[in-house]
Amino acid sequence: MNAIDRLCRGVRPHFSDHADGLPLPAVAAVTVGLHLLFCPMCRRTYASVRASRDALRALGAADEPVNPG
Ligand SMILES: [Zn+2]
Repeated sequence: MNAIDRLCRGVRPHFSDHADGLPLPAVAAVTVGLHLLFCPMCRRTYASVRASRDALRALGAADEPVNPG
């Protein structure tokens, strides 16, 4: 495993909260933001997480109010 792989494994657990717009610890927020800038693999993973979240929100939109935050 190379250094990039280690970085990827470190930031990916935060993608879900980041996609939800939840506040991350400052270090994690900066690390995730920077990592997404230079890692195309994680950008794809993050886009996939966001797409899944959006789809789930759309499904639940009829039942629950959507939090705009
Ligand atoms: Zn990565």
